[in-house]
Amino acid sequence: MKNNKVLIVGAGIGGLATALRLAKSGYEVQIIEKNAQAGGRLNQLKKDGFTFDTGPSFFSMSYEFEAFAKACNIKLPFTYKALDPLYSVNFSNSPTTFFLYKDLAKLAEQFKDIEPDFEAKIQKYLSKSGDIFHDTVNLVIKNNFDSIPEYLRTLAQVNMVHLPVLFRNFWQQVTRYFTSDEAQQIISLVAFFLGRTPFDTMGIYTLLSYTEFKHDGYYNVEGGMYQIVRGFVDELVKEKVSITYNTEIVAYKEENKKLTCLIDKQGNKWTADTYVINADAAVFRSRIFNRKKYSTKRMEKMNWTMGYLTFYIGLNCKLPQVDHHNYYLGQNYKQYADTILSDPNTLEKPYYYVNVLSKHNTDCAPEGCESLFFVCPVPNLLVKKDWSDKDQIVDSIIDDFSKRINTNIQSEIISKTIYTPEDWQSQFNLYQGSGLGLSHTMLQIGAFRPSNFDETYNNVFYVGASTIPGAGIPMAIISAELAFKRIEKQKEAMLQKASTTK
Ligand SMILES: Cc1cc2nc3c(=O)[nH]c(=O)nc-3n(C[C@H](O)[C@H](O)[C@H](O)COP(=O)(O)OP(=O)(O)OC[C@H]3O[C@@H](n4cnc5c(N)ncnc54)[C@H](O)[C@@H]3O)c2cc1C
Repeated sequence: MKNNKVLIVGAGIGGLATALRLAKSGYEVQIIEKNAQAGGRLNQLKKDGFTFDTGPSFFSMSYEFEAFAKACNIKLPFTYKALDPLYSVNFSNSPTTFFLYKDLAKLAEQFKDIEPDFEAKIQKYLSKSGDIFHDTVNLVIKNNFDSIPEYLRTLAQVNMVHLPVLFRNFWQQVTRYFTSDEAQQIISLVAFFLGRTPFDTMGIYTLLSYTEFKHDGYYNVEGGMYQIVRGFVDELVKEKVSITYNTEIVAYKEENKKLTCLIDKQGNKWTADTYVINADAAVFRSRIFNRKKYSTKRMEKMNWTMGYLTFYIGLNCKLPQVDHHNYYLGQNYKQYADTILSDPNTLEKPYYYVNVLSKHNTDCAPEGCESLFFVCPVPNLLVKKDWSDKDQIVDSIIDDFSKRINTNIQSEIISKTIYTPEDWQSQFNLYQGSGLGLSHTMLQIGAFRPSNFDETYNNVFYVGASTIPGAGIPMAIISAELAFKRIEKQKEAMLQKASTTK
């Protein structure tokens, strides 16, 4: 087969999934990756006898993985387990911890004194969220659009009954159904999973509540999330796909509207018939291709997700009182959310998530020890440039956590690693340390998001969080399918052209 050599830049989950689809369809695939190991943001840190997942800690839409495995004719190379409860939520100065059960009657029991008719309300809320999900997922989320008019025509096919939700933010949609502070905050928490706050995330994303509570829920991976990457890499090895690490693309050459090679930091040239960029789709266009539309000024004006302060702690004791997935909130939710994207000094009373990986994966910590991973949503580098106070912030979170769990863990820490937005930026070329890439605003989704085909070179495609459909592991799997379809369509068109000119 001619025209079948593909070079993929980036071994994130989007790049790996695209590579496997292509290799299984007969393409000769090569991957180059900036870092020393695969996975991108879905990564792993091994240190002092502990194993930590460094980014994602659970995933939704498991059926997307199953569909992917079926399309590639493989057995999914990792084992996943449904979470129930999904996670726990604790508010500061409150002894109550809420457990987010998928069983809505069990969930409602915890709200009986604070939110009258909670079960009926959440059923009604999820019914609406479910309608939004089912009316958009195949039409809008899992679709390639060749142009903005085509995208707008498709949007016009979405049931008009959802139109008012388009004009509400996540918070406004949630507060139509719930009145108590606790219910409103707990149900809207999922907006943070999209890298913004409930107050500036579109109401249509309340479909996420449906995916978490009703449709499919969340899943843990046996042995930790990095087993997904390990499994994918094993499958790629079977298909003879090579991955070259410690290789960062910094320049390119073109001829007649075609990309002819990519050039790494050492000056090596990488050639292929087709190129798939898994590095951030906006950053690559800006810094490597120097596109006007992605100039420094325009990049600054785009809407970016928040940064993450993450830290990985090995404890010389067990924490039986702490669950696997836990959220710790303060008492100033709205104020915190309002300022987190604009004020560098919001971190005095941070909100954070704690993952105890060793809870269900005993291999991830030495005996009698615990492996903890903290994620704190923080301003990205556009807002907070100086992270010299990272140790103070981390200490304040550890102190707060110690109080909430009635155990002072400071003296039990035997391993500690901190990643600020600066580290996230430098490790994975994330714009200003923005953790999830471009936000999902009206003008940055669908055909308005950086497209998965290049504007100039017809042999360049994109996959991953900042192209369509968006951020998160299941979206990366869908993104790989969409990029694969583009490449196949292009190949078919070329074959047809060749046969008609014979
Ligand atoms: C702290 C955190 C927590 C998260 N939690 C969850 C979660 O619980 N569930 C969930 O579903 N999602 C979660 N996400 C989101 C999820 O991690 C991402 O959406 C997903 O992993 C992105 O995959 P990707 O393939 O698009 O990009 P990436 O993972 O960023 O991969 C891109 C790859 O390209 C490489 N690269 C970049 N530039 C170059 C270059 N010039 N040359 C060569 N290589 C290059 C990078 O090193 C990287 O390996 C989380 C993200 C973060 C940061």
